Amino acid sequence: MKLEIPPKGLPKEDVLKMLREMRDHDVDYNAGKVWSLVYPFHPEHLDFVKTAYNEYFSENALNPMAFKSLKKMEHEVVRMTADLFHGGDFAVGTMSSGGTESLLLVVKTYRDLWRSKNETFWNKIKGSASQFPEMILPESAHIAFNKASYYFDVKIVYAPLDENKRVNVAEVEKRINKNTILIVGSAPSYPFGTIDPIEELGALALKYKLPLHVDACVGGFILPFIEKNNRKLPLWDFRVPGVTSISADIHKYGFAAKGASILLYRNMEYLRHQFFVNSEWTGGMFVSPALLGTRPGGAIAAAWATLMYMGQNSYIETAERIMQTTDKLTQGIKSIEGLALLGTPHASLFAYHSVSPQIDIYAVGDQMEKKGWHIDRQPKPPCLHAMVSPIHETTMGQYLEDLREAVEYVKNHQELKNEGNAAMYGMMAKLPMRGMIENELLNLMEQMYSVEGQTPALESDRKDFKTQMASLLIKIKDKVDGWMK
Ligand SMILES: *Cc1c(COP(=O)(O)O)cnc(C)c1O
Repeated sequence: MKLEIPPKGLPKEDVLKMLREMRDHDVDYNAGKVWSLVYPFHPEHLDFVKTAYNEYFSENALNPMAFKSLKKMEHEVVRMTADLFHGGDFAVGTMSSGGTESLLLVVKTYRDLWRSKNETFWNKIKGSASQFPEMILPESAHIAFNKASYYFDVKIVYAPLDENKRVNVAEVEKRINKNTILIVGSAPSYPFGTIDPIEELGALALKYKLPLHVDACVGGFILPFIEKNNRKLPLWDFRVPGVTSISADIHKYGFAAKGASILLYRNMEYLRHQFFVNSEWTGGMFVSPALLGTRPGGAIAAAWATLMYMGQNSYIETAERIMQTTDKLTQGIKSIEGLALLGTPHASLFAYHSVSPQIDIYAVGDQMEKKGWHIDRQPKPPCLHAMVSPIHETTMGQYLEDLREAVEYVKNHQELKNEGNAAMYGMMAKLPMRGMIENELLNLMEQMYSVEGQTPALESDRKDFKTQMASLLIKIKDKVDGWMK
């Protein structure tokens, strides 16, 4: 496909109209039928955050000397968050563009800390791909750690979860060896919404003198306020001795503009390994706190403004509303025969599965989508996932009603598990040849970013994706048949 920049610019109104029309095929999150990706909040709040963002639309936090305003805002966001997480007088940190950047930084920082302490050993193994530093992750840790593993050559060692979907600490201890550079826990985990036993992990970290990172990307700006509403939670922040760093996304339950996360360390001894400095570049001396070069000022200004405007009172009140909605949802789901929650979720996200052979949970997901809900499926074990926002207060009743109906329908239509998405997801979860599947996923990416720029829309145009997957399965079958001959 050939496309050129319009030789002559179009009228503003036309461009804006096109811009708005393109949205027609997106998921409609304002209807409260989407349970991930967005955190809809009331329109006045949104207007305010946009205004704050636009105030610093052009400013660049790349150079804190030039934009002292942004430096001050970042500093204050760090201080306020350090206070929220009980970081005391020594906690320090930086802002980043999101949870993924924060976690990439975590892995880079602890790798470099480890290298600095093991200089000779590191020089010996440098270039040998067989010996990597290792990090121990709960099986439920966020996928961004896998990215970090690829990017920074730190091997992942997974520790299994217990029956409550929290990491099994004894299994973590068994995996500690001389190559271990980092232990990770989530507060809470994305797949199950459970907080790992951070206090016990902290004790391990101290015993073996290892860093412990707590990934509170999704929980950081709701857990403290849940606690302030006198709801009981396990400890997960800097109050736990042994916790050396915490990541938290202000663009999730902080309700700021996208592009804002925070990464805090217990003290500068850790943070210093995150920084990049260079004195020899042709372009001049260079220092950089995080991964990006140019850092959008708007995201920082909006995060600062949101914390100031919301205040603890609004966060506390919003957290309570979200938790009341979550309670009703989880109780409703538990009251449906054949469904159960996975583990005991601590915050506002959770997953549920089927405990009845008569209910295929993916078929239930298909029925829910037919009723207009946007449903997230997870494979281990097969389950459906939901993350609650204030907007769901108004739609949760309908969700439960539809879910009850969907379950009944699936019970009475056993054939559904062999049809549509249910069949595909069911199969994908069971297929043993992950390498081959990943190859096909890579092909999918190549198509999406090809000259034609195809979008194999996963949700809105399911046929396309189904056809893709069917052809993948046929390909795999052909290969297996080939080997068998
Ligand atoms: C969302 C999330 C991340 C990643 O954050 P992004 O902002 O999407 O990059 C990391 N960890 C957890 C637990 C999350 O929920």
